[in-house]
Amino acid sequence: SIVLGIESSCDETGVGLVGLHADGSVELLADAVASSVEQHARFGGVVPEVASRAHLESMVPMVRKAFADAGLRLSDVDAIAVTAGPGLAGALLVGVSAAKAYAAALDRPLYGVNHLAGHVAVDTLEHGPLPSPSLALLVSGGHTQLLLVEDVASSITELGSTIDDAAGEAYDKVARLLELPYPGGPPIDAAARRGDPRAIAFPRGLTGPKDARHDFSFSGLKTAVARWVEQRQAAGEPVPVDDVAASFQEAVADVLTAKAVRAAQDHGVRTMVISGGVAANSRLGELAASRCAAAGIELRVPRPRLCTDNGAMIAALGARLLAAGAPPSPPDFGADPALPVGTILV
Ligand code: ATP
Ligand code: MG
Ligand code: FE
Repeated sequence: SIVLGIESSCDETGVGLVGLHADGSVELLADAVASSVEQHARFGGVVPEVASRAHLESMVPMVRKAFADAGLRLSDVDAIAVTAGPGLAGALLVGVSAAKAYAAALDRPLYGVNHLAGHVAVDTLEHGPLPSPSLALLVSGGHTQLLLVEDVASSITELGSTIDDAAGEAYDKVARLLELPYPGGPPIDAAARRGDPRAIAFPRGLTGPKDARHDFSFSGLKTAVARWVEQRQAAGEPVPVDDVAASFQEAVADVLTAKAVRAAQDHGVRTMVISGGVAANSRLGELAASRCAAAGIELRVPRPRLCTDNGAMIAALGARLLAAGAPPSPPDFGADPALPVGTILV
């Protein structure tokens, strides 16, 4: 079977095509993505109205591109999946409306699905079926979550999340402080590789013995970086950008990996997936690999293109739902900007 996936929750218009074989295995057939990230750069963050308009302009061209890339026709599709939430209301609406139109025109079942479950499901395209249970560390511009995944199509429980900024958001804010471009992840990662991660001891939020829940906090870290930079500037001294970036990055990677490994151990989980845009981070990857190896945990990180928002992840989740014989979403379902992580299918 062929599953079409449509994603428009934030600033990427993604259209993916995934093949589901009779034995349940999946195959990536197309992954067309248009991003409006450059239009948001001068604002230092995603502007919802700008993102919605960009989705409107890119949706049909990305659908055409995906089918052309795969050498398939619209009528070849057996099922359609679309991100129903969480995300930006206007942005989500573009994808949901498009998916409903295609589903009606082609008379195919439509699944309104959870974006976060899509970030987990995408790994099946790269590394095959997910063992049950698995732990997912989801780190992006809008999310920082630890998820216990019993079954990506039917059972995901949140173990913890950020109580303030998302990890990617912290990168974007610290980049701004250091006068590096938006989005801040790639330039900080590059600067950090030239700097000394032990130069400055930045705080590790919520890592004390009393912080039993698997939550994260990054706003204290961001404030500590801001204070440190301000003090330097007030003293008329140059800011050692590479060292600040390396020390900040070390704090983020340390907290994320330490808490993820602890959550895996608390729940007896032996497989960890890291996904979301921040999963591309070089230090996070290194530290996760060494700490997972030491703890006897198998680490799975999809390639960077699949970690950031895309339509293939939604198609991959749709394929799992189709394989499980899940009922399609009710025809009147809408976009839900605050869709809870446990609601995989609306
Ligand atoms: P959502 O949160 O809804 O998934 P998003 O668009 O914010 O949406 P992604 O596209 O998955 O999320 O990721 C973008 C984020 O990833 C940005 O905050 C960016 O700074 C960060 N990022 C990208 N590359 C790196 C990197 N090498 N190191 C750290 N952060 C990175
Ligand atoms: Mg994005
Ligand atoms: Fe995302």
